[in-house]
Amino acid sequence: MNQSTPEMTPSDLYRRLLKYVKPYWLVFSAAIFAMAVFAATETGLAAMMKPLLDGSFIERDPQTIKLLPLGLIVLFLIRGTANFFTAYGLGWIARNIIKNLREEMFESLITLPSSFYDQSTSGQLMSKLLYDVEQVATATTDAILTIIRDTLTIIGLLAWMIYLNGMLSLIILTTVPIIGYFVYKISTRFRNISKNIQDSMGDVGHICNEVIDGHREVKTFGSQPYEIKRFDKVNQKNRQQRMKKIATEAISQPLIQLIAVLGLSVVIYLATLPEMLEAITVGSFISFITAMFMILTPLKRLTKVNSKLQAGIAAAHSIFSLLDQTPELDTGIKPLDHAQGDIKYQRVNFQYNNNNGPVLKDISFHAKTGQTIAFVGQSGSGKTTLVGLLARFYQITSGNILLDGIDINEFKLNDLRHQMSFVNQQVVLFKGTVADNIVYGHQEHVSNERIIEAAKSAHAWEFIEKLPQGLATHIGQNGVLLSGGQRQRIAIARALLSNAPILVLDEATASLDTEAERHIQAALETLMKQRTTLVIAHRLSTIEKADKIIVMHQGKIVETGTHASLITNGQHYAELHRLQFHEK
Ligand code: ADP
Ligand code: MG
Repeated sequence: MNQSTPEMTPSDLYRRLLKYVKPYWLVFSAAIFAMAVFAATETGLAAMMKPLLDGSFIERDPQTIKLLPLGLIVLFLIRGTANFFTAYGLGWIARNIIKNLREEMFESLITLPSSFYDQSTSGQLMSKLLYDVEQVATATTDAILTIIRDTLTIIGLLAWMIYLNGMLSLIILTTVPIIGYFVYKISTRFRNISKNIQDSMGDVGHICNEVIDGHREVKTFGSQPYEIKRFDKVNQKNRQQRMKKIATEAISQPLIQLIAVLGLSVVIYLATLPEMLEAITVGSFISFITAMFMILTPLKRLTKVNSKLQAGIAAAHSIFSLLDQTPELDTGIKPLDHAQGDIKYQRVNFQYNNNNGPVLKDISFHAKTGQTIAFVGQSGSGKTTLVGLLARFYQITSGNILLDGIDINEFKLNDLRHQMSFVNQQVVLFKGTVADNIVYGHQEHVSNERIIEAAKSAHAWEFIEKLPQGLATHIGQNGVLLSGGQRQRIAIARALLSNAPILVLDEATASLDTEAERHIQAALETLMKQRTTLVIAHRLSTIEKADKIIVMHQGKIVETGTHASLITNGQHYAELHRLQFHEK
C-alpha cells in the first residue's frame, strides 16, 4: 500500500478506537453497571453456599430453609438480567461501530486514486471491510467484557474468600501463579497453532480459488493431477495442524484440572487439621471451595485478554491505514457544464508509481472539436494510459493537457469526468437489470423509449429483446450471462445515452465479430458525429475514416497522419496495415 499511515502506536490506536465508542457512552456506562451487578451475583452465589449448608442442612433453621430457594431464584433473576443488558449493550455498541467504520471505509475507498487500486488486490480490500472490522469490534468488546466483568468477579470472590478464611486464601493465592503459568504456556501454543491453521486454511482456499477461476486452463493443460497433488499437500498440512490443536486442547483441560485439584487437596488437608476444624464451619468451607473454583474461569479469560487485544489492535491498524489514505487529488475549482471538446496534449510525460520507467514520452497532439483521433500501436505501447490521463485517473509527470484551452487540473474532477464517456475492452456491468446498466450514471429519470432507442442504435436490442425479461433481465450473478460482444454493445448503448462531448473508445469493438462490428460501425459513426472522439482500434478497418491517426510505439508517437497519407508514407502504419490484411 502506498503512503501508509505514519507509525501509529498501540496507544494512538486505542485512543482512536475510543473515539468511535464516545457517542455511545451512555449505553456503555449502563453496560459497565450491568457487568458490576453480574460480578456481584457471582460472589453472591458462592456466599449462598454458607447459609445453604450451615443453615439448612446442619442447623435445620426453618427460616433459612424457606428463604434460600427464593433467594436463589432472585439471585439468578438479577444475574440473568445483568447478563442480558451487558451482552445487548456491548453488542449494540459493537454493531454500531462496525456500521460506522464500514461506512467510513467505503467512503474512503470510493475516493481513492487509481494508483491505490493498482497496488492492492480486491481480496485484500474486501477482507479489510469484511473481516478486520468484525475483528476490531468483537476482539475489543470481548476484551472490555473480560477486563471489567471478570476482574470485578475475581475481586469479589477473592474478597469473600479472605473474609471466610485469610490463612487458606493465602495458600490458594500461591497456587495461582503456577496455574497461571500453565495456562499462559498452553494459550501461547494455541495461538501459534491457530495461526498455522489460518495460514494452511488460506492455502487450501488459495488453490481452490485458482482452480475455480482457472478451470479452463486446468482443463486445457491437463494439469488436474498436478493440482490434485498440490491440494493434497496443503490439505494434509491443514489436518496435521488441526490434530495438534485437538491434542493440545485434549491435554490442557485435564492438566489444568489436575493442578487445580492439587491446590484443592492442599486446602482440604489444611482445613481438616484439628486447629482449623474448630475455626471453620462446613458451610464456610464449601463456600470457600466454590469461590475458589468460580475464580478459575474468569482468571483463564483474563490471561487471554492480551492476545485478544493484540488481534483487535492489529485489525484497527489495518482499518485506519485505509482510512488515512490520501483521497484522489481534486484541487480544481472551475465548474464545467458542457465542454466544446477541444483537446490538446502538450509534451506529456507519464510514469506509473512503480518505477518501471516512463510509459508516455513527450506526447503532443491536438484534437479539434468534433474530430476523431485514432491511436494504433502494439499492445503495451501506452494507448490506454494516454486516453486515461484525460480523465485524470493519474497525475501526469510533466506537460499539460488542455480541454477547451484550459488545463484539466483546473476543473472540478467530477465536472471534467462528466464530459466523457468511455467504452472499454473490458466492460464492467453492475449488478442489476439490463436497463439499469444502460442508464448507469444518469442522475435523472430516463424513459424506456430512450433506452430502447439507444439499445437499437448500439445493435444491442436484437439480443436484449430475446432475453427472458427483456430490459428488466438481471445480469451476471444469478442472472443471465452475456458474451463479451453483448457486454460491449450494452456499453455502447450506455455511451449513446449520455450526451458527453468527448467519447473514448478503447478497443470498444474488439470482442465483436466482423459482422457485428459492421453493424455497430454505423452506430459508432452517429455517436462520433457531434463529439470529439479518441478511438483506440484493434482493427484498422474501424479507423480509416479518422481525421488523424496517431501511431504509438513504446510510449512515443512515431507517426501521425490520415490513413491515406500514412499508407503512402510506407512506414509503421503501412506495415501494421499490411500485416493485418495479410492475416485475413
Ligand atoms: P496499451 O493500451 O497500448 O496496450 P497500456 O497503456 O495499457 O498500453 O500500457 C502501457 C504500459 O504501462 C505497459 O508497459 C503496461 O505494463 C504499463 N501499465 C499499464 N497499466 C499500468 C498500471 N495500472 N500500473 C503500472 N503499469 C501499468
Ligand atoms: Mg490498452
